[in-house]
Amino acid sequence: MKVVVDGARCTGHAQCNVAAPEVFTLDDLGYALPGEIAVSHDTEPAARRGALACPERAITVE
Ligand code: SF4
Repeated sequence: MKVVVDGARCTGHAQCNVAAPEVFTLDDLGYALPGEIAVSHDTEPAARRGALACPERAITVE
């Protein structure tokens, strides 16, 4: 599984990182680092929580 952070939609709420800090990394301004993130089996539940937590719907689960 992977998740994709759309940097164009991200507005820096940081909720993804709060829900799943092991999956989503923030830059110095609190924006999630954009692009694809490979998700291990163990962290899939956290990744899904992080995606759902994003108020901008900037995270896609694939
Ligand atoms: S929760 Fe969404 S808007 Fe906020 S940092 Fe994460 S991806 Fe960006």
